[in-house]
Amino acid sequence: MKGALLENIGILRTALRRGFVGPQALAFIPAAVLAAFWLGGEPLLLLTALGLPMLYFLAGGFPATPGAAMPAQGHVDLINALDSNAMATDALQKAATARLSTACIMIEIDGLEDIAQRAGEGTVDTLRDLTLTRMRNTLRRDDRAVRISDNRFMALLAPSIRLDLEALLQLATRLQTALEEPASVDSSMRYLSASIGFCGSPRLRPDANGEHLIEAAQIALSEALANGPSAIRAWSDSMRAAHFAQKTLQGEVDKALDNGQIQPWFQPQVCTSTGVISGVEALARWIHPERGIVPPAQFLRCLEESGKMDRLNEVILQHSMTALRSWDQAGLDIPRISVNFSEAELRDPRLSERIQWEMDRFGLTPHRLGIEVLETVIASSPEGIVARNIVELGKLGCQIDLDDFGTGHASIAALRRFKVHRLKIDRSFVTRIDRDEDQHRMLAAILGMADRLGLETLAEGVESVGEHALLSQLGCDHVQGFGIARPMPTDQMVTWARQYMEKISEAHLLGRKSG
Ligand code: C2E
Ligand code: CA
Ligand code: CA
Repeated sequence: MKGALLENIGILRTALRRGFVGPQALAFIPAAVLAAFWLGGEPLLLLTALGLPMLYFLAGGFPATPGAAMPAQGHVDLINALDSNAMATDALQKAATARLSTACIMIEIDGLEDIAQRAGEGTVDTLRDLTLTRMRNTLRRDDRAVRISDNRFMALLAPSIRLDLEALLQLATRLQTALEEPASVDSSMRYLSASIGFCGSPRLRPDANGEHLIEAAQIALSEALANGPSAIRAWSDSMRAAHFAQKTLQGEVDKALDNGQIQPWFQPQVCTSTGVISGVEALARWIHPERGIVPPAQFLRCLEESGKMDRLNEVILQHSMTALRSWDQAGLDIPRISVNFSEAELRDPRLSERIQWEMDRFGLTPHRLGIEVLETVIASSPEGIVARNIVELGKLGCQIDLDDFGTGHASIAALRRFKVHRLKIDRSFVTRIDRDEDQHRMLAAILGMADRLGLETLAEGVESVGEHALLSQLGCDHVQGFGIARPMPTDQMVTWARQYMEKISEAHLLGRKSG
């Protein structure tokens, strides 16, 4: 109730501030009072004399407490980098003088661009005002809240004795709850989400200035945005190192794609009933001249951020087709390569055309290509270009594998609609099945459901002989994992596959003899 009242007063203040602000307005009050007396006598004089100062206060013109300094936050909606650095330096100096702490909280409101496109800039301006009002209503009176870009807001906390991690986390959570309250604007409900990064001054070096404080909060915010929506992250020293390593990678990754440093390694998948190789999964690796083998977790984000996922897909596909043809020529029997397709890659409107063209160019039929799509992508893409591409690729003859099955909420209807061929059961359901009763029961239930739906199954992350044996017993069709082989480069695959097939035929011979 109190929150809603403060919010409404805040919005009224913002509206009034635009037309009725500054000390010059004070000069206008006596003239208005005289005019009121002349026009309407005593009653209007009283009304004006009491009402105008009230309006002036609501607009933020009066200090909130007699004698206190005018809160600068009331006048500043959008400030530039120089001013924000100066504000942060000032906050740090005040805190240092008083032997207390301060903190910078950086907030990004997601989705404002979308709202601007659909409802116009006016609606977004109202939401920006509302965000500032909500921040100010949640913060203490001496804390400062400003907007520093289209969708980014900053709070600088007044010196305080208790600004440890726990207290800052609680404050960040309170801010997020306030900012994410549904907002009714122009008779539509708007749902915003807020990502938050923060840094407390005790975490910085003693000689740090405002720019350092803001940079630390910005780095924490980037980390929150990468884990969002609605994530909160506190700045730490290791985060800084990781951030700058990521930035360096970002600069190098585009070139790496073009000069052949990024290529797929291949991890075998084998059939549990016959033991033969049923396919391989292509997993991107960056063969870095100084850092060695860089795993995808470290560079996929860079590629996503620079909009280069399509290019990655082309590179992985071309290397994979070249590898498949070379294995065919070497006399290996590797029926299929499965390639991971992210949501961004599946948004390419010419995807199926491009893939058909590539397969023709290499003289390979589309059924030799597996398309791995995350369950979360299928669950969230009932319509649109992503859905159309998956259906088209299935029609072309590519096998559709549902990756990380068990981590999303794909419906049975979606499995049918996208003609999913195989469920790749996520490693989290596979680990320790031979030692954990609950895990065992869960996996048996998944396999039973897949069997009834006529879907093939593959268990990911099979690391031990015990897991492999139990998966065979439970009727899982294929297995993949370090227990069979780790991902390896194209040329190693030839040696590995020959040795593996020899081992299998020996085991078959032994089996026949002992039988
Ligand atoms: P994913 O598709 O689930 O791939 C399986 C991941 O598990 C691979 O990690 C693989 O090396 C790892 N793995 C396989 N067997 C085992 C095991 O027995 N134990 C453990 N602990 N891990 C195992 P990797 O290569 O680091 O790839 C990580 C993720 O990056 C992949 O997860 C996939 O989502 C993505 N990714 C990899 N390559 C590409 C690509 O070319 N394009 C796209 N869009 N995503 C890719
Ligand atoms: Ca995969
Ligand atoms: Ca997977």
